[in-house]
Amino acid sequence: MRRLIRPILTTNTIRSLGRVTNRILAAQNPKARAEKSWDNKPGVAFSEIRRKLEGMASGRSRCMYCEDSFGTDIDHFWPKADYPERAFLWENYLLACSFCNSNLKRKLFPIDAAGSPLLIDPTVDHPELHLGLLPTTGEYISLGVKGAESIKVFGLNDTASSRNLPLGRRQAFVCLLALLKEYDSVHVNDPNKANEIRLAAKDFPFSAVLNWLVTTAQLPNGPSVLGADVAGLIQTHNVQGWL
Ligand SMILES: [Zn+2]
Repeated sequence: MRRLIRPILTTNTIRSLGRVTNRILAAQNPKARAEKSWDNKPGVAFSEIRRKLEGMASGRSRCMYCEDSFGTDIDHFWPKADYPERAFLWENYLLACSFCNSNLKRKLFPIDAAGSPLLIDPTVDHPELHLGLLPTTGEYISLGVKGAESIKVFGLNDTASSRNLPLGRRQAFVCLLALLKEYDSVHVNDPNKANEIRLAAKDFPFSAVLNWLVTTAQLPNGPSVLGADVAGLIQTHNVQGWL
């Protein structure tokens, strides 16, 4: 998982969401009203919402939780079944794959004693403060309860299922290092190929891995962790700007 930036919606769409929310708040049964409204959500507004979610997701519209599969579902970070007042709130929408959304997260939404979420919202939190990445295995280590809960709910370290996210992250690490070295070898004589490589790295699934490489390269001990050659490549070619 990596930090994502949420764009603003057009005024018409903000108003459209506000009208639906007001009707939910005024309903005798807000939960039922939210479900019904979701089944009949305004098409024009949600065309824009889906487009903006796909644009702010990493890579080619990857799921914002696993970063592997294509994001197919609009996930209510705060589940609409329990928080109907947030069912039509732009800030409550994330793009998720159907497996993360329907098989894993479902209505699971752990909160702390103060009522704050214990899952990582990549548009609010900085995921790298909650999830440490082990490049040798692709596993995450939790850096606190929010990281631990997110790993558990989204199966981020599950190696038993066929999707095996740690293996995917490890493979992303291997591929990205190869792409960086290839970029370095062609960027002077073949700028078109270099640009293709840059786009391939930018769109590679598991964007947290590229983010980790960039962040680690900037640390004082980056050269000893990554190797001086890799850390140097990342700095020299301003890979931070590829993200
Ligand atoms: Zn997913």
